Amino acid sequence: MHLRIFGGTRTPTTERARRAEDLTKTLDLNVLSPDVADAEIERACADAREHHFAALCSYPHLVPLMAERLRGCDVKTCAVIDFPDGTSSTADRAHAAAMAVAEGADELDVVMNYRAMLAGDFRLARDDLLRVGAETNAFFRASSGGRFSMPASVAGPVQLPREVFSNCDATSLRVAMPASMFTPYERITFVTPIVDGCPFFGEANPTEVLLNGRLFRALAAHELGHTLSLGHASRWTCNRRCSIEEYGNAFSVMGGGDGDLNAWEKSALGWLGPIVRPRRNATHELGPVEGPTLLPQALVVRTAASEFWFESRGSATPSFVGDSVQPAGVTVVAGPAPGGELSQYPRENLLLANPAGGARFAYAPGEAFVRAGIFRVTVERHALQSAALRFEWLDRVAPGRPRLRARTTRGRIRLSWDAARERGSGVDSYTAVIDGRAVRTFRSDIPHTTWTAALRAARGSHRVGVYATDRAGNRGRLASARIRIR
Ligand SMILES: [Zn+2]
Repeated sequence: MHLRIFGGTRTPTTERARRAEDLTKTLDLNVLSPDVADAEIERACADAREHHFAALCSYPHLVPLMAERLRGCDVKTCAVIDFPDGTSSTADRAHAAAMAVAEGADELDVVMNYRAMLAGDFRLARDDLLRVGAETNAFFRASSGGRFSMPASVAGPVQLPREVFSNCDATSLRVAMPASMFTPYERITFVTPIVDGCPFFGEANPTEVLLNGRLFRALAAHELGHTLSLGHASRWTCNRRCSIEEYGNAFSVMGGGDGDLNAWEKSALGWLGPIVRPRRNATHELGPVEGPTLLPQALVVRTAASEFWFESRGSATPSFVGDSVQPAGVTVVAGPAPGGELSQYPRENLLLANPAGGARFAYAPGEAFVRAGIFRVTVERHALQSAALRFEWLDRVAPGRPRLRARTTRGRIRLSWDAARERGSGVDSYTAVIDGRAVRTFRSDIPHTTWTAALRAARGSHRVGVYATDRAGNRGRLASARIRIR
């Protein structure tokens, strides 16, 4: 069974500056009083729609009503399974989950078994904790290609006064316990019985995680991913207007997928193998992002405004809901290019949907990702162990002419110029020219708004100039000036 996670996480700095709507998008609205009436559900549906909550959660028998009222809007229908005790058998839970999905649930909220723990028998809970700890460690070891591991052991149980939980945050729990308990640990994951009124499954800061009554590998890996400073793996969805679907990456465990981290995330953590940054039109081979592989694990294309990360997902990825499986294939995430022009993507690591794929986000052999007038990446071949991607520039528009200023000081030519206008592939380099001869090239890896150069030349009169070349190889017009060295 695959489960959905929500995290009301607060730490990753990339997520700090968010609009209120983006914030409620990370929260689900719970309607879980023991005798919910239909009218209450209808009111909650209207609220959830208005405030763009991620999901509305209630009992399985209310799923058909919720699914109908939430049709066509961005709020998911979520069913609580085995709420509130988490004591039924695995078979019963699986049956209840399958029923809820069949009736229209997009997400499931499955409760952990903590009755034994509350009854003073910690043995069962300890076994669960150790198993999930070991599974999560195995996940990080494999994901990092052996570069990182997170071995876990269990401390506790600890009984705390009720008030400690009122903040719904892991730091309050740590502060309420003796510090000596945690000295051997780099990170602490608190697993609590469900705390009523805390509107999330998990919460994380750089050293502490709180799992609110749910315990499974994907949730633990997601929240621990936040402690490693990863944000959410989101999707950029454009219908009439474009918006961010916070958990919309159906592959990464940092989104809505029960799969490996993606190439962008692994690169941010220093866990990725080699990267290809193509300069010329050519076919490149990629290994699976899940590894292990000796091939490059990402193809990265930078344009004037944006950066695109292509990766090959070697195997199919289930979602947490369990009703959909994303097939293997080539996926692309986009974000702003470092120091580039204003990008259409408001933040990094946004999965782009395959317009030809329907709900299949990856690109299959024969399909191409196209940025009109800039570049194209065609999937020539895709298999478990390797994929072949054909990269081509489509940019035929040369950069503009830079604005040039030239003067002489102490027998040298001093040039300064403003960055050339270039909206497609982006400026790759500037070339300085004296009397028709290229004398120096300046690579534009780190884009500047103003460039300067000092050049030597013999006494006398000279024609000096600068032109820009874009990444696609289009050479712009020369800006020139005449100067005299005395
Ligand atoms: Zn999260």
